[in-house]
Amino acid sequence: MTTTYPSSPAETDRPETEALFAAFIRRLVQDASMLQAIDLGEVDAIIDPVSGHAILLPATQEALRQGAVPTNQMLATLPPEEYQRLLAAGLEPVTLAFGDLLHEPGELIQHIYFPSAGLLVSLLTTLQDHMALEIGLVGSEGMVGLPVAQGIDTSSVRAVVQGPGKALRMESSRFREALKISPVLQRTFHRYTYALIAQITQTAVCNRFHLVEARLARWLLMASDRLHTNPLRFTHEALADLLGVRRVGITVAASALQQQKLIQYSRGNIKILDREGLKVSACECYQKIKDIFDHV
Ligand SMILES: [Zn+2]
Repeated sequence: MTTTYPSSPAETDRPETEALFAAFIRRLVQDASMLQAIDLGEVDAIIDPVSGHAILLPATQEALRQGAVPTNQMLATLPPEEYQRLLAAGLEPVTLAFGDLLHEPGELIQHIYFPSAGLLVSLLTTLQDHMALEIGLVGSEGMVGLPVAQGIDTSSVRAVVQGPGKALRMESSRFREALKISPVLQRTFHRYTYALIAQITQTAVCNRFHLVEARLARWLLMASDRLHTNPLRFTHEALADLLGVRRVGITVAASALQQQKLIQYSRGNIKILDREGLKVSACECYQKIKDIFDHV
C-alpha cells in the first residue's frame, strides 16, 4: 500500500520526538489495518483529515533526505538547507510516463517539475491548423513551469514528457512562497530563465535557417545529453513532429547520418555510434545552447 502525496507535509505541526510523532500518527489513524500497514513500512504518507496535508512518515523522509540527493542540477546546486526547506514545503517525488501532458497553453500551472536525470520534457508551441512545434527541451538541467517563478500562473506552451522518468514536483503556490523569501533560489531561477530564453531563441533561428540533417543531429545530441541513454527510442513520426518537418525529411536525414556511420537506426531505436562525428554534423546551435547552460 503506497499513498501518493496530494499535498505537502505539515512540518510545522510535526511533533519533535519519535515517540510523540508515533502517538500523533495513532491519533490521526483510527483504522487498524492502516496502522498495521504503517508498522510494516507499507505506507509512505498519511493525510491529515483536518488540514488535508500529507504527512510523510519517518522512513519516507529519510529516503528523501538520503536517497533523493537530487539529480536535478538546479536543485543539486542549492545549499543543502535550501533543498531541505523545499522538501519541507512540499517538494514531492513523481513518476512520469511517455506522453504525459504537464501543461497546456493558457491553462493554470498547478505544479512545477524538476526532472531527474533521464526524464525529457518537450516545450511545444501550438498553432491552429499546424502541428505543434518544439521550441525547447528540458531535462535534469532545468525545470518545467518557469512562468511561476516570474509570478505568472498560466503556461504559454505545451509541456509533454518525451522520455519517461522521475521528477520532483511542487505546487505552484507553495513554490512561489518559497521563492519569495529566498535570494539564493531567486538567483538560481534568474540564471535558468536566461539560459532557457537563449535556448528558445536559438531554436527559433535553427528551425528557420538550418537544414533538417543538421537539426536532427543537434536534436539527437540534446536529447541524449538529457536522457543519458543510448539508443534513444523515437520514431520518424515523432521526430518529424518535434522538428516541424515532413516524415520523409526525417527519413532522408536519418539515412544520411546512418550512411556516415554516425547513428544506427532500427525500428524506433536510434543508437549514436560516433558522438564527436555527430557534433560535426550538427548545426552550431547545439554547442551554443550547451555553452550557455554550462556557463550560466
Ligand atoms: Zn541550428
